[in-house]
Amino acid sequence: MATFNYSNKTVLITGGGSGIGEALSKQFALNGANVHILDYQLEKAEQVVEEITNAGHKAQAHQCDVSKHEQVKEVINDIAAKHTLDVLINNAGIAHVGNIEGTAEADLDRLYEVNIKGVYNCIHVAIGKMKEQGSGVILNMASIASSVGISDRFAYSMTKGAVLTMTYSVAKDYIGDGIRCNSISPARVHTPFVDGFIAKNYPGNEAEMFEKLSKTQPIGRMGKPDEVAQLALYLCSDEASFITGTDFPIDGGFIKLNG
Ligand code: NAD
Repeated sequence: MATFNYSNKTVLITGGGSGIGEALSKQFALNGANVHILDYQLEKAEQVVEEITNAGHKAQAHQCDVSKHEQVKEVINDIAAKHTLDVLINNAGIAHVGNIEGTAEADLDRLYEVNIKGVYNCIHVAIGKMKEQGSGVILNMASIASSVGISDRFAYSMTKGAVLTMTYSVAKDYIGDGIRCNSISPARVHTPFVDGFIAKNYPGNEAEMFEKLSKTQPIGRMGKPDEVAQLALYLCSDEASFITGTDFPIDGGFIKLNG
């Protein structure tokens, strides 16, 4: 059921082919938006688009690796030539498990390229059009790792800390242009991202690890992608027009109730 009015709004969602991004894409489309999914895995994006259009809503898939500046420029400029850029959600991100000794230089570079530079690339390209319009909303997918230490997540925490501070910086610099910028910081949300890193890093112990990770949220479970999408729907809506420069944890009590 639609709860917000996104009709006539163009919403760009990076990493919309899976997990949280898939839920975001489906919810924004359900609420009337014209959704553009930017994902480096085109088939996944196309599958989500097919489900959205079969349900009678609007969505398009674009092959785009957010870490590649020229590709991002081409794709976003192409969308911007035909539509307003109302909402940009920087959701694409990759994980890495390891403390600083377990983080090779190549791991650090890879995490930087996608999780930090990817966000920079998309905002850098989209912001000019938003300024011209005198309006726009940017929402970045940060993490509880942005503000509290999570063991064995050195590179990931570093990148998500940067997502949080990029949010503050952009919010401050463009408040006079009618552009709002916020972030969401989920604790663990059950997506292929979580299943993937459990399978890769804890082979043979998947069920035990899943249980352990569920319990790190005081509420006793992981979040659902749709719960994150509902918060995003509000934050990007006109109803949230007084909200900018703020991070929103959605964490089953992880930050404030642990310990
Ligand atoms: P996921 O792996 O299920 O989906 C990520 C999507 O991003 C995939 O479709 C993938 O193809 C795409 N992607 C990856 N690299 C890309 C690139 N370079 N260019 C374009 N697309 C790319 O992940 P998810 O769990 O849905 O996570 C989404 C976001 O939420 C990430 O930024 C992640 O850090 C953040 N987050 C996730 C959790 C969690 O527990 N799942 C918690 C906190 C924050």
